[in-house]
Amino acid sequence: MSTPTFPTYASFAELLQAVDAGEGGREILNPATGQRVGFADTDTVADLNAAVETARAAFESFSTTTHEQRCAMLMAAADAVDANAEPLAELLSREQGKPLNGPNARFEVGACSAWLRATASFELEPEVVVDDGQTYSTLTYRPLGVVGAIGPWNWPMMITVWQIAPALRMGNTVVVKPSEYTPLSVKALVHVINSALPEGVLTYVSGDREIGAALSEHEDVDKIMFTGSTATGQKIIEASAPTYKRLTLELGGNDAGIVLDDVDPAAIAEGLFWGAFINTGQTCAALKRLYVPDSIYDEVVDALAEFAKNVPMGEGLDENNVLGPLQNKAQYDIVADLVEKAKAAGARVVLGGEPDQEQKGFFYPTTLVADIDPDNALVVEEQFGPALPIVRYSTIDEAVEMANSLDVGLGSSVWSSNRERALQVAERLKAGTTWINNHGAVDPRIPFGGAGHSGYGVEFGVDGLKGLGQPHVISG
Ligand code: NAD
Repeated sequence: MSTPTFPTYASFAELLQAVDAGEGGREILNPATGQRVGFADTDTVADLNAAVETARAAFESFSTTTHEQRCAMLMAAADAVDANAEPLAELLSREQGKPLNGPNARFEVGACSAWLRATASFELEPEVVVDDGQTYSTLTYRPLGVVGAIGPWNWPMMITVWQIAPALRMGNTVVVKPSEYTPLSVKALVHVINSALPEGVLTYVSGDREIGAALSEHEDVDKIMFTGSTATGQKIIEASAPTYKRLTLELGGNDAGIVLDDVDPAAIAEGLFWGAFINTGQTCAALKRLYVPDSIYDEVVDALAEFAKNVPMGEGLDENNVLGPLQNKAQYDIVADLVEKAKAAGARVVLGGEPDQEQKGFFYPTTLVADIDPDNALVVEEQFGPALPIVRYSTIDEAVEMANSLDVGLGSSVWSSNRERALQVAERLKAGTTWINNHGAVDPRIPFGGAGHSGYGVEFGVDGLKGLGQPHVISG
C-alpha cells in the first residue's frame, strides 16, 4: 500500500490548530451551546486582492494540465477528506450546529469525497457538432480563469465542494469565500483538499458580504459560483455585470410538495419528514410547503406528526440527535416570527410551535402547522427552518396553481402510488427538479439548478462541468 501524502489529524482541535484558527480573530460560537469553537480570520479587501493574484498566477500552469491529471488530483483530494472525515465532521457539527449523525455532519463530509470522486469520473470529450463533408465543427471547453466560490452556512462543506470540484476539474483556479457564519469548516476543508493540489490553485479568504461583493466585482475574476439567498444573488448579478463575469446562481427556494389522494399516509410520512426537515429545515431544496387533498388531509397530518414527534433534536455531538439548532439567531428569529404569524392568523399548530425559552442555543422545536391559509407568510416566504405548513386542496388544478404561484422554483415533489399520475402532475410544476415520492435527493450525476428567482445555470454532471468552461468552437 502506498503511503498517503496528505496529513491526517487526530481531532478537530488538531485540525483547527493546523489551519491557525485556535486563537486570535473573530470568535466563532457553537449555535447549540454558545461555547467557543475557534477564531475566524478577518481578511480585508487587500487580502482578497492578494488571493486573486495568487490564483491568477497559478492559473498559468494549472490551465495547461490535462483532465487526467486534474481528475487524479480530485481523487487524491477525496482520499484526504476521507482520511480526515471524523475531525472534519466534528468541526462542522460544532460550528454549524448540525448533529454528527443522521443526514448531517458525517453525511456531509461523506458527500464531499463522493462529489470529488464523481466529478473526476465524468467524461467530457470534444464534440463534433457538424461533419457534413463541407463543414467540420468541433466544440471543446477551455478553462475560464479564476473562479470565485461564495457559499452559505447551511451545508458549508458540501456546497464548497459542489462549487470547487467542477471548477478545478475544468482547469480553473479558485478563490473560496465562505459564509461568515461557518468559515472554520470551510477553511479546514480547503486545507485538507489543498494537500492534493499545486500551490495557489485553491485559496481561501474569510470575510463577510464586503469581501463577497469585492470578489463579485473583481476585474480579474472570470466566474462566480454563488449559493445563497435570492436577494444576494441579485446583488451579485449587478456587481458582476461591468466585467461580464459568468455566473452560476443557486438561490433560495420555497419548494412545494403535492400529495395525491392515492397515497398510504403512513408509508410516506418518513419521506415527507426528511424532505422537509433535513438539516433541521435549513436546506435550499427542502420541502417548505406541503399540499394535501381534503380526502386524506387528516390522515397525512396525523401520520407526519406521529413520525416527527419522535425524532430527537439537540446538541450535535450527542450521538442520539439527528436534528439540531438553527445556525444563527437571525434565522431563528425568522422561523419564530413566521410561526407566530401563522398562529395569529388562526392556523392550527399540530406539533411544536412553542420554543423552550429556558433552553440554551438556537433550538426551535419541530413544528407542523395545519389548516393554514395558502397566502400566509409561513407558506409564501422561505422559512429555512423546522416549521412546515400543510395546506389543504380540493382539486389537482388548484394544488398545481398554488405550487406554481411563487417567483422561486428550485425543487418540488409529487407523492403518489401511481407513477403515471405523479408524472402528469410533475410535468406541470415550475421548478428545476421535481422528485417523485422523495424530496431533495441530489445526485452528482444529475443536473441541479433553479427556475425563476431560484437562480440559473446548473451544477453536477457533465452539464455542470460545461458551466465551468469557455465553449470554443473550431469550424472550417
Ligand atoms: P446569503 O445570501 O445571506 O449569504 C451567502 C453568501 O453570500 C455568504 O458567503 C455572504 O457573505 C455572501 N454575501 C452576502 N452579501 C453579498 C454581496 N453583496 N456580494 C457577494 N456576496 C455576498 O445566504 P445564506 O443566508 O448564507 O444562505 C441561505 C440562503 O441560501 C437560503 O435562501 C437558501 O435557500 C439558499 N441556498 C440555496 C442553495 C441552492 O443550491 N439553490 C443551497 C443552499 C442555500
